[in-house]
Amino acid sequence: MPEGDAVYRTAAKLRGALDGQVLTRSDFRVPRHATADLTGRTVLTTVSRGKHLLTRVEGDLTVHTHLRMDGSWQVMAAGRRTAPGDQVRLILANERWQAVGVRLGMVDLVRTGEEERLVGHLGPDLLGPDWDPDEAVRRLRGAPDRTIGEALLDQRNLAGIGTIYRAETLFLRGIWPWKKVGEIEDLNGLVSLAQRLLDANKGHAGTVTTGDRRPANQTWVYGRAGKPCRRCGTRISRGEMGAQPQERLILWCAGCQLG
Ligand SMILES: [Zn+2]
Repeated sequence: MPEGDAVYRTAAKLRGALDGQVLTRSDFRVPRHATADLTGRTVLTTVSRGKHLLTRVEGDLTVHTHLRMDGSWQVMAAGRRTAPGDQVRLILANERWQAVGVRLGMVDLVRTGEEERLVGHLGPDLLGPDWDPDEAVRRLRGAPDRTIGEALLDQRNLAGIGTIYRAETLFLRGIWPWKKVGEIEDLNGLVSLAQRLLDANKGHAGTVTTGDRRPANQTWVYGRAGKPCRRCGTRISRGEMGAQPQERLILWCAGCQLG
């Protein structure tokens, strides 16, 4: 599932292809907006907010998309055929490029002035210009009995963390994922570390939290269930957190994450 750093890169890719260009075609393949047509309008820009993408178009319109589990935006030469079998949800094209949204989990078209209705509930964006660790901590503290593992994934607390950064951040801080938020002393250190990890990875594909970019060495616990911990040798545990049906994968080291 794409996390904040991947969404950030996607926004940059869309800016490169669409910003300042007049749309020569738009194709919404979702029932709700099947008749929408943005042809002739100039794309102003695309910004990311946590895992949400906002593509602003001339005339007070914003195309709101979310990659959810396995969606993506692909940029290719205008007129090129998309791969057969791709579940295309939206195409935005200009004379030179087309941006093709595949398996997008959300496609919406709203007034730009109403964007807050879509993303106003989000906590501070770890990769946004307005990142505010104190505000993220304040929001986390609002539910002290919640497990830190669940609280970190709740985008209303802070926006951009998914299962990879959750697992890696908690490992690096030595925190058991089921520890209650109210029992964690240095929440600021925790969210600041998460921010640094996302920031360090926003410029390239993949997630490297160990500082070692070789494929087998990139993470401490994520993707390493059953393998020995790089620090203490204990086999990495794998489980699920959260209430059904929203439980999500968690990996941790029972030797290192005692705190
Ligand atoms: Zn360990």
